[in-house]
This record gives sequence, C-alpha cells and structure tokens, in this order.
Amino acid sequence: AKPSGNKSVLVIGLGRFGGSVAATLDQMGQDVLAVDKNPELVARWSAHLPTIQADMTDVLAIEQIDASQFDTAVVAIGDSIEASVIITGNLLDAGVSDLWAKSVSQEHARILQRIGARHIINAETDAGKRVGHLVAGNYLDY
Ligand code: ATP
Repeated sequence: AKPSGNKSVLVIGLGRFGGSVAATLDQMGQDVLAVDKNPELVARWSAHLPTIQADMTDVLAIEQIDASQFDTAVVAIGDSIEASVIITGNLLDAGVSDLWAKSVSQEHARILQRIGARHIINAETDAGKRVGHLVAGNYLDY
C-alpha cells in the first residue's frame, strides 16, 4: 500500500522488531528517527537511518529529541517492561498521541493500554496467528 502522506515517526529500540519497523518505514519514504541506548547498535544503524543514542527513560532525552513534534512513536522494547512502560508514559505525557507499543505478555499489554497507548503489538501472538492462517491456506485472512 502506498502511504497517503509523509509521517514523522520516532522508533525507540533497534532490536529485531524495532529495527524491522524502522527500516520498513524508511523504505516507504517516511521520516524516521530511531533511538537506542546501545551505542554499537546506533553505530550500525546510522549507516541506513537517522539514528541517535539516548536512554529514553530519561525525560531530558525526550525533551531534547522534541518527541512531541512526531506524528507517531513506536516503543519497541520487550526485555524491560519497566523501560517500556516508563518510556510509553513519558511520550504520552509529552503529547505524542499516536503511540504504538510492543508488548510481551497480556499483563504488559494491559498496563500499556491503561496508561493510554493507542496501539498494542503482540508480536509473537500476531505472528503465530498469521502463520496459522497461512498454514491453513487462508491467505486472505492474515
Ligand atoms: P527483539 O525485538 O530483538 O525481539 P526485544 O523486543 O526483546 O527484542 P529489547 O531487547 O528489550 O527488545 O530491546 C530492544 C532495544 O531497545 C535494544 O536494542 C535496547 O538497547 C533498546 N532499549 C532498551 N531500553 C532502552 C532505553 N531505555 N532507551 C533506549 N533504548 C532502549
């Protein structure tokens, strides 16, 4: 599908999931800024995308990046539910309304929803459902 307009998207976390989201958005011509606290990942990704190194649980980092200017933010952190929840809360407080957050469990998803994340991505269960439909031959359902 062709994007209807140019969106600015802040992607936080450049693991397999976040990296894939950021690269896809970039290929689709969206304005992506990726952030990770790991300097090695940032060095690797900065050859492909605008990328900066910061710990986004720090409110100052959110201010410096001027997170509120982005149309959309994607919080792509699974290992640390604490970091995921803190960053999601801080981005929402900064005024980012179109927020997508990755969850790793039902409990994590419920907290993200309660603090106001608009979209929750259950990456593993979503991928499992899709594969189930594909294996069953329901290509149109996935
Ligand atoms: P994957 O997507 O690879 O399955 P995951 O969902 O388990 O991984 P994590 O390993 O938790 O994701 O984190 C993804 C990325 O987020 C990592 O590269 C990590 O450095 C980054 N990250 C974690 N905490 C922060 C933070 N506070 N600020 C910025 N980046 C962070």
